[in-house]
Amino acid sequence: MATNLQQKKTVAANEGFTELGHIKPFKTAWKIRVKIVHTWKQYTTFTGETIEMILADIKGTLIHATIKKQQLTKFQRLVVFGEWRIIENLQLTRASGKFRATKHPYKMSIMNSTIITRCPSLSNDFYVDPVAFENILAEDVLNEHILIDVLGQVVSVGQIKTSAQNEKPKKRLEIQLRDTSDQRLSCTLWGRFADTMWEECHKQESGIVICLIRCAKLNSYNGNRSVSNAFDMSLMLLNADYTIVDEFMANLPKDNLQIIFEEEDKTNCRLSKDKDDYINQFPLSTISDLLEAETEGKFKIICTVYHIDMEYGWYYFECVKCKGTCYIIPKEENKPISKTKKPLFYCPGCDKEVSKAVSRFKVTVDVMDATGESKFILFDTTALKVLKKTTTQILEGQYDEIADPSCVPEPLPSLVGKTFMFLASALTANITEGKETYKVAYVELGDAKKEVDNTEESELPTDPKDVISIDQDQDAISHENGEGYNTATTTPSSKRKEDPNDVSEQSSTSKKVCLPSITSAIEDASAPAINENEGTVDEIQDNIGEKEKLSN
Ligand SMILES: [Zn+2]
Repeated sequence: MATNLQQKKTVAANEGFTELGHIKPFKTAWKIRVKIVHTWKQYTTFTGETIEMILADIKGTLIHATIKKQQLTKFQRLVVFGEWRIIENLQLTRASGKFRATKHPYKMSIMNSTIITRCPSLSNDFYVDPVAFENILAEDVLNEHILIDVLGQVVSVGQIKTSAQNEKPKKRLEIQLRDTSDQRLSCTLWGRFADTMWEECHKQESGIVICLIRCAKLNSYNGNRSVSNAFDMSLMLLNADYTIVDEFMANLPKDNLQIIFEEEDKTNCRLSKDKDDYINQFPLSTISDLLEAETEGKFKIICTVYHIDMEYGWYYFECVKCKGTCYIIPKEENKPISKTKKPLFYCPGCDKEVSKAVSRFKVTVDVMDATGESKFILFDTTALKVLKKTTTQILEGQYDEIADPSCVPEPLPSLVGKTFMFLASALTANITEGKETYKVAYVELGDAKKEVDNTEESELPTDPKDVISIDQDQDAISHENGEGYNTATTTPSSKRKEDPNDVSEQSSTSKKVCLPSITSAIEDASAPAINENEGTVDEIQDNIGEKEKLSN
């Protein structure tokens, strides 16, 4: 009774307005009084254009609100940054996804029946809540899926770089921030955020740039924490005229620190870090995220290989001329061996028999994490990276079609039980046609510092020694047939390098591929159940060039 009475009194004091902290999805007839502290437009193929807002109440509680395409004309003019509004009737759904704009458990949708009216200002505050660097840098304090506010002084600024991996070039700028206790934090800015920062740092005569980012993305890679802008969801203000910024400046160390402009760095070490950063822009996802993808995009997933799927074999032949798939021509039984040269392959692309081809990887692996199972396909770059052997080395001159799919050649079985960080591509075929195999664009072995080759899956240059041709004398091909096939039947290329030292070195390195650090990360990755339809996938996709030429 007492609490009921208290509630009634509170309601009376709030003039019928409910605090954001108290609204829940069981009804829509809420009345709230909020300030629009951030707005941005978002576009996804799934929802079309929407207006997104961060709303704050007088207590400083924030909530993410969406105005759908259908309501845009009705409400657009009422969405004014920095103004207070009364909003009646609203729909709430659970906040989910990897880019949650606020800590609020729910996300608000404006409905047809929603009433938005103007309201006198209740406060000049912008309700920014910067997270202490200490908490950003600590591994277990913050949920990476919730965007945060960051406030820091710019300590150093790198060079603007254009990401080379992307077909659509994307600018990127690395900066370092410090807080009032001189703790440092790395920050990556993309696109227009990079430009804005660069210009401000170079024109600022005082040498002091205070950077405030609302809705910054927390990143974690190889145990190092950093922040970045979360596409257009972020708001970056430099030397903003906010009380919180003035207070921050007053508390900075009195060391007259000036911005350091880093010279262009050409070392390989830096290059490798850039590539890490490229992968770093993808939040850690799970297999269930991948399976539920509604738009094309790439998913960084830590998962374990539990089976090699040999249904389609593990390699194919590529025609040297047209780069299409070609097929080995089966030997004819009981036919005397011809002394003349005879093409080994038929190429549908060239529509004729061809004599030169290269073997390429197409390894299908069954993978799992705590959220589900999937099939990944590794083509040349990625397969070579995990297997550390070329197709030529594995085939050992045995180019006949696979006779027994249960016989998986070494080192393929060594992948079973290993955990990798994959960047898997969800393509239209996966999303709309239910294709169950996902192409792997990139794989990380778990120790990026030792791996120089971090390139995304792309066409490898053909090593001449890998070309299979019949330019040699056909006499080299014997036709002894004991057990269906044997290694002596075809020896198409005697040019193939057979350095025994080389081979033993290869096999010794292929044994230890996975490192424990990545295995422990699998538990973190599986913890939150996420449903990604926040619309950011489209934008992620924008950032990446689709490089794989090979299609399934
Ligand atoms: Zn061809």
